Amino acid sequence: MDTARAAGPSPEIVPLPASFPSRYGVPVLSAVDVAIFGGRYFTHCMQCSFCRDACCSEGVDVDLLHLHALEAHADGLEARTGVPRDRWFTQQRSYDPEMPGGGSVRTQVVDGACVFRDRRGRGCLVHAYCLERGLDYHTLKPLVDCLFPLTFSEGILCPADEAEDGTLICLDTGPTFYRGVREELGYYFGEGLLRALDALEGGVPNPS
Ligand code: SF4
Repeated sequence: MDTARAAGPSPEIVPLPASFPSRYGVPVLSAVDVAIFGGRYFTHCMQCSFCRDACCSEGVDVDLLHLHALEAHADGLEARTGVPRDRWFTQQRSYDPEMPGGGSVRTQVVDGACVFRDRRGRGCLVHAYCLERGLDYHTLKPLVDCLFPLTFSEGILCPADEAEDGTLICLDTGPTFYRGVREELGYYFGEGLLRALDALEGGVPNPS
């Protein structure tokens, strides 16, 4: 799951009427791959009975802004997850001006799943920790996680690799990528982006 994708030329990419920075300043969206209006996925992840959290099997890119937030909750997260903080991330740190904080680290994969995935039940222990403490999950969960199965690259809002290449296990089982992530897009980028995307969505044939 969840790697900011390398952009390539696509006939489906159309410009937005303005540039839309995220609430963190970056990324700044200036175009969209209209494939976000066509592809579909299950959407209601915790109601899914067949995925077994497959989209968490490869870990996630954690932007440095959220890395610092996770570190500020390290004691509580260690207690909740049972995983010491020095096992949360790989050693590699990537620098990317599109990432909040200027770069990212990658969560460790342990026994075929992100180190933060709940091994006894379903879902994400970072998310569970936030809910249990009355925290907005956006405070600790990385941007790339919350936008999945959409992502961004070089200012383009686009499907994540798994949604693009057909390996996302719940493809074609629910609403469109855009409708599934629309609320998150509004949270990060504001109502102006939603108005622009709604207008573009109206011009794209709705797949049956
Ligand atoms: S941080 Fe949570 S939602 Fe993101 S990949 Fe890991 S377990 Fe899944």
